[in-house]
Amino acid sequence: MNLLSLKNISKTYDPNDPPAVSNVAFDCVQREVVGLIGSSGSGKTTLLRIIAGLEIADEGEIILKGKVLNDSSTFIAPEKRDCSLVFQDYALFPNKTVWQNIAFGKKAANDNGRLDKLMEMADITDLGHRYPHEISGGQQQRVALVRALANKPTLLLLDEPLSHLDPELKENVRSELLKLLRETSTTTLFVSHDTEDAMIMADRIVVMRNGNIEQIGAPNVVFNKPVNSHVARLFGKTNLIPAELLPTSMHKFPSEDGKGQVVSIRPHEWKVTHEAPIGDRPSFTGEIKSLIQKGAYQEAILNTPQFEITLQIPTNTELSNNITITTKQDH
Ligand code: ADP
Ligand code: MG
Repeated sequence: MNLLSLKNISKTYDPNDPPAVSNVAFDCVQREVVGLIGSSGSGKTTLLRIIAGLEIADEGEIILKGKVLNDSSTFIAPEKRDCSLVFQDYALFPNKTVWQNIAFGKKAANDNGRLDKLMEMADITDLGHRYPHEISGGQQQRVALVRALANKPTLLLLDEPLSHLDPELKENVRSELLKLLRETSTTTLFVSHDTEDAMIMADRIVVMRNGNIEQIGAPNVVFNKPVNSHVARLFGKTNLIPAELLPTSMHKFPSEDGKGQVVSIRPHEWKVTHEAPIGDRPSFTGEIKSLIQKGAYQEAILNTPQFEITLQIPTNTELSNNITITTKQDH
């Protein structure tokens, strides 16, 4: 059963601007972790705030656990929504200790030791007496998270939960965050502009652009079968090859100039071939324009007569100036 249903949500702040959120619709099932991905200004924060009741949609319907939160005649106040929103800056009270931050306004929350348990799970038990400025960014994030989880929200909303963290901390914090969400079986909608976060954390990804949803799917689907060039590029380097050169390809979409169809083939999906390719799998021959050592592999740019192709080549491959490549699998 769907836990959250969004139906045709739209919101325009300024009538002179395009809508911040336009006709957005999707559902989340219980315990699902859904990543809302898009570049800055695509409407992610606005959508989270609408779900939390901090912003009012012009149109649309929000249903959480069978209860209408918002439609043309209903507006449930944020505090009655059973959603917790963790803001991008965590919004901890600077003059309250960690414990006071977590327990604030939650008289009954520790009745059965839930707060103690959550703090233990988040590994912040020993920080209760400290102030926010006395703990690291990763710890602040966990304090905000425990505070949000204290009331057992039906839905947890996280706005860019990892964007304030140093890159070296991030990986660890990300896996701890995901572990806590799984252990507490919390249905979560998180916002990120970082596609790596979404690939790792999300059960399903919703890609937004200019207020619209472009694609919804499991991480591997969005990565391997993007619906358009924008989604293809958002998830990392790729080559958009004209579809007529890959006649067997199953997954094509309109090219950016609108003149034909293309297929997205990522740098790791090519291989150097020394013989004629098997069957009718197409091959491309060209001169290596640049070769960069990346440690585990080398990244080459191949100049073919029609276009350039970026590809990964194993470090131990012997290469001449001109090489022929083919795709590892049919597309
Ligand atoms: P994201 O979180 O994806 O970066 P936002 O939801 O913050 O995107 O913003 C979407 C669009 O709405 C942007 O064009 C932004 O400038 C505009 N916007 C956001 N908040 C407001 C506001 N309070 N008043 C007017 N325009 C806003
Ligand atoms: Mg935002």
